[in-house]
Amino acid sequence: MVDSDGLGGACVLTDCVPSKTLIATSGMMAALDGSVSLGIRLGGDGEPGPAPARTTAPARATAPARATAPARATVDAPRLYSRVRSLARAQSADVASRLAAEGVKVVSGVGRLSGPRTVTVADRELSADTVLIATGARPRVLPGAVPDGERLLTCRQLYDLDELPPELIVVGSGVTGAEFAGAYQALGSQVTLVSSREHVLPQEDTDAAVVVEDVFRRRGMAVLGRSRAVAAERTATGVAVTLQDGRTVRGSHCLLTVGMVPGTGGLGLEQAGIALDEGGFVPVDKVSRTSVPGVYAAGDCTGVMMLASVAAMQGRIAMWHALGEAVQPIRLSHVAATIFTEPEIATVGVTQRAVEAGQADALVVKLPLATNARAKMQGFRDGFVKLFARRGSGMVLGGVVVAPRASELILAVSLAVEQQLTVDQIAHTFAVYPSLSGSLTEAARKLMRPADGAGSGDW
Ligand SMILES: Cc1cc2nc3c(=O)[nH]c(=O)nc-3n(C[C@H](O)[C@H](O)[C@H](O)COP(=O)(O)OP(=O)(O)OC[C@H]3O[C@@H](n4cnc5c(N)ncnc54)[C@H](O)[C@@H]3O)c2cc1C
Repeated sequence: MVDSDGLGGACVLTDCVPSKTLIATSGMMAALDGSVSLGIRLGGDGEPGPAPARTTAPARATAPARATAPARATVDAPRLYSRVRSLARAQSADVASRLAAEGVKVVSGVGRLSGPRTVTVADRELSADTVLIATGARPRVLPGAVPDGERLLTCRQLYDLDELPPELIVVGSGVTGAEFAGAYQALGSQVTLVSSREHVLPQEDTDAAVVVEDVFRRRGMAVLGRSRAVAAERTATGVAVTLQDGRTVRGSHCLLTVGMVPGTGGLGLEQAGIALDEGGFVPVDKVSRTSVPGVYAAGDCTGVMMLASVAAMQGRIAMWHALGEAVQPIRLSHVAATIFTEPEIATVGVTQRAVEAGQADALVVKLPLATNARAKMQGFRDGFVKLFARRGSGMVLGGVVVAPRASELILAVSLAVEQQLTVDQIAHTFAVYPSLSGSLTEAARKLMRPADGAGSGDW
C-alpha cells in the first residue's frame, strides 16, 4: 500500500468522516432547538423564548440569554473542531492497525507508475502482478474564486478555523454544499446558500429536495436559487461573492463546493498506457479493470459514483477479480446513498425521474411522515417515505426516505431491492409500533395487489 497523506484517505481524514462528525454536533443542536416544544426547559425561566436569532451576529455562543428567555445551547467551536480532527486521526489509526494485523506493508510517499506493473515511490521501485489505483479526487476550484484557507474555503479547510463562521456563504447546492449549509445553520452561523439551479440538490428526488429546502428556509437560511457565482474574493472585513447577474453577496466566510476533480495528474498513467476520459477520470468496467490488463482502479478517481461505499466495493471487486475469485460485477442501480441534511434523504434503486421518463414501469406511493405516530411523538413533521414497485410483479424497485436517521431506515428498502422482494412480502413483515419503519410497511400495504384482483386497475 502506497499512501501519501494518511491511511483511510481523504474519506477518513478530510471528507466523509470529519463532515459526519461535525453533523453529529449540528444534529444535536437542531434537536435542542426543537426541544422546547417537547416540554424541555433549557435553563432560563422556562418560558419559550423567541425563535433563534439568525442574524449576522457571531455564533450564539457570544450572545447572552435574555432574562425572560431560556438559555440557548451554544457551540464551543475550538472543541468541536478538535473533536472532528482527533476522531479522524483515531479512525485512521484503526485502519493502520487493521492493515498491520493483515500483514500489509505500507510505504509512505507519493506513488507514480513507471510502467504498467511498476510503481515508483521516491527512489524505491515496487513491482507487482496487479496494481490498484485509488488516488481519489480533490475539490474543484473556480478560476475566479481561489481558496485561501482562511476566508475562502474548500470543504477540507473548515476544520482548521478557530471559530464558527458568523456569516457563511456556501457556493454550490449539491450534496456537499447542502450538508454543510444545513450543519452550519444549525450550529449558529447565518448561512446564505448560492444555488445555480431552481432548487437545492438538483440531482436528487425533487420531492425530497423541496422538503429540505423548505426546512432550510424555515430555519432562517437565505437560499438564492438560479444564482450562479462567478467570483469570490476577500474584502477588508470578510468575503464578497459576485453572481452572474451582477449581484454581490457579502459574508464573513465563503465555502466553495462546486464539485470534485480526479487525482490522476502526475501519476504516469498515460505513459503506462492507461486511458483517461476527457475529465481526467480513469474509465473502468464493472469489475474495476482499466484499459491495461493487470491495472485496476477504484473510487473517486474513476468518477463512477463518488461514495465511500462504492469506492470500497469497487476495490473489493478488483481484488476478487485479480485473485480469480467468482465475482459479481458492481450493480450501481442498487447503491444506497444518504444526504446527511436534517432531515436526511436516503435513496436506493430506481428514481422518480426514471419512472417519469418511462425507463422503469413502476407504481409509486408516498406517505408523509406527519401521519406517523412515532414521528408525531418525536416532534418530526418534515419528511416522507416513498416506495417504487414494478407494475405486474410488485417487486420493490427502490425507495426514498426523508426523515431523521433515514440513513438507518433505508436498509430495509435496500434489502428488498437486492433480494427482489415484493411489496406483498414487505407488507406481511412486522414493523414495531410505533416506529418510523412502520411507514415503510404501510407504504407497501398501499401498493399490495388485491388477491381477488378487485380494484387492481393500476396493476
Ligand atoms: C465533504 C465530503 C463528505 C462526504 N461524505 C460522504 C458520506 O457521508 N458517505 C459516502 O459514502 N461518501 C462521502 N463522501 C465521498 C467519499 O469521501 C469518497 O467517495 C471517498 O473518499 C472515495 O474514496 P477513495 O479511496 O477513492 O479516495 P480518497 O478517500 O480521496 O483517498 C485517496 C487517497 O489517495 C492518496 N493519494 C493520492 N495520490 C496519491 C499518490 N500518487 N500516491 C499515494 N497516495 C496518493 C490521497 O492523498 C488520499 O489520501 C464525501 C465527500 C466529501 C468531499
